[in-house]
Amino acid sequence: MAIVKVENVSKRYLLGEQVVEALRDVTLEVEPGSFLAIAGPSGSGKSTLLNIFGCIDNPSEGKVFVDGQDVSGKTPDELAEVRARTIGFIFQNFNLLPVLSAQENVDYPLLQLRELSKAQRRERVAYYLDMVGLTRYAGHRPNQLSGGQRQRVAIARALATHSKVVLADEPTANLDRETGRGILELMQGINRDAGTTFIFSTHDAHVMDMADRLVHMEDGRIITLETKLAGVESV
Ligand code: ADP
Ligand code: ADP
Repeated sequence: MAIVKVENVSKRYLLGEQVVEALRDVTLEVEPGSFLAIAGPSGSGKSTLLNIFGCIDNPSEGKVFVDGQDVSGKTPDELAEVRARTIGFIFQNFNLLPVLSAQENVDYPLLQLRELSKAQRRERVAYYLDMVGLTRYAGHRPNQLSGGQRQRVAIARALATHSKVVLADEPTANLDRETGRGILELMQGINRDAGTTFIFSTHDAHVMDMADRLVHMEDGRIITLETKLAGVESV
């Protein structure tokens, strides 16, 4: 069973008088354990698709399934619950809270999981900061960390809620090539060891190369879907 799936999804935005077709009849099924890249020019619909997968945006048409559940008819509260327990987000500008330390940033989404005691939260935060190699920086605020370190805090934060899927919108866009590659290698290691599904958008050909599946988007459509070893299939 797919961990996330969109079926015949279209998304239209109204910009004044103008209708923007951000997604046109997109169908995509992502198997658990995938390391999937979404490539395509700026404006091709990559962020919109990630936002719909992450239930932070609704499609104009079509169906969305997360972890086997049809999320179409859910209320905002129910969607928040699905997100909190299933999905983690990573952004190109890191989106960390500037006044909180690295460990407080990782702890923050855990507050939504009411069943966790303070001690359990502390243990999880320590575990994931260690996983991303930032134990020594637990008390540092984002502005005391390098770009690569900030993105590693964001990865720890995305994983700490035991997310099954991590959605990453251009996670390496604001990093130099070498640091970006390190971030992707960290994500890839977690994908292999823990089986966490990663779906990330990118412009960087080196980053695309690391994916096990590659989706090419253009003008709101999926143009090709490539599976490593299996070659290219047109859609
Ligand atoms: P990408 O991530 O590939 O750059 P996006 O998904 O951000 O593409 O955008 C797809 C299209 O939808 C673009 O034409 C963009 O201008 C438009 N779009 C995205 N978000 C909005 C919005 N909130 N309001 C209006 N138009 C939007
Ligand atoms: P990364 O490759 O993880 O991005 P860098 O090579 O950019 O890390 O950073 C090297 C070291 O410099 C790091 O150990 C980090 O702690 C330190 N550093 C970077 N920026 C700052 C800062 N603003 N304040 C304190 N230390 C910093």
